[in-house]
Amino acid sequence: MSSVQQAGFPSSPAFSYPSRATERSDWIVSARDPMARRLASAREPAGSIWEEEWQGGDIISSGLTIFLVNRECPWRCVMCDLWRDTLPQRVEAEDILAQMDVALATRGGREMEWLKLYNAGSFFDSGAIPPSAYGGIARRCAGAGRVVVECHPSLVDDRVSGFQRMLPEGVELEVAMGLETVHPEAHERLNKRTSPGDFARAAARLRGMGVGVRLFLLTRPPFIPRAEALGWLLRSVDFALDAGGDPVVVIPTRPGNGAMERLRLAGEWDEAPLEWLEQAVIRGRAKGGGRVLADTWGLESRALQEPSVGALLARLKRLNRGESGKGPGE
Ligand code: SF4
Repeated sequence: MSSVQQAGFPSSPAFSYPSRATERSDWIVSARDPMARRLASAREPAGSIWEEEWQGGDIISSGLTIFLVNRECPWRCVMCDLWRDTLPQRVEAEDILAQMDVALATRGGREMEWLKLYNAGSFFDSGAIPPSAYGGIARRCAGAGRVVVECHPSLVDDRVSGFQRMLPEGVELEVAMGLETVHPEAHERLNKRTSPGDFARAAARLRGMGVGVRLFLLTRPPFIPRAEALGWLLRSVDFALDAGGDPVVVIPTRPGNGAMERLRLAGEWDEAPLEWLEQAVIRGRAKGGGRVLADTWGLESRALQEPSVGALLARLKRLNRGESGKGPGE
């Protein structure tokens, strides 16, 4: 009997999801389409985007997100598809700095009030971003009011404060972590090898260092029965806000990495209605505390095909700017 069946999840009879992390990682990797890994150069970022983000009150600030290319994250979470933009080998410090320079060259005369350095893993994983690159990275953050990096909670330690001290005066540090859900069994089965409590402790440690905390949640992770999933999403929003997440970013759980397709076939997962994004933001707004934002990536193209998605997207954009979700006349 699989661990999923033991916990009372409604698995199909033939479905078996390994209970041990090593076997789980093998199961997750075996579901991949090897052609899905996009060819990436160590000297070019996977992408970069200039965008705006609501900072609270009536402040909207603009900045740059750089998707850095490096070695694949070692955790291999079941819902993760970030490996597609990674390399099999480690990169050098000079590679990371070259990638930043390529992205920063697109600045023109634009304001850069914040800079997000997302590396498809953990910034403080020395196998991903060589610590010898920290100084050069920090110098390139000059002029940004805030730099955001992502990290697994187990790597939140003195490395964070060490990098924080290298940042130029006036540049604040924020660390983003993928909490995903506080459903205890589902969280454990994601293969992150953490508990929600680990995130709360890492968040408290970051706040103690004067570092901002950004937490990511999934609308409907696998292994949560459909009837309970929205309730667990709203509970997760509460938990993330209580842990000091500001912002808390809610992301639609998507297929596309092979493992999620297998879980869907087994009846362990399905996509959440997009309206749950809106419900999560409204829940966060009612609770108060940090900002709760909806990730609207990919919705623009769907909105062209589906008018209801277009209307929802318009509401989410207003909510993401701190406004009421209602438009004029609604
Ligand atoms: S820790 Fe983050 S980047 Fe690494 S596998 Fe899990 S979700 Fe992906």
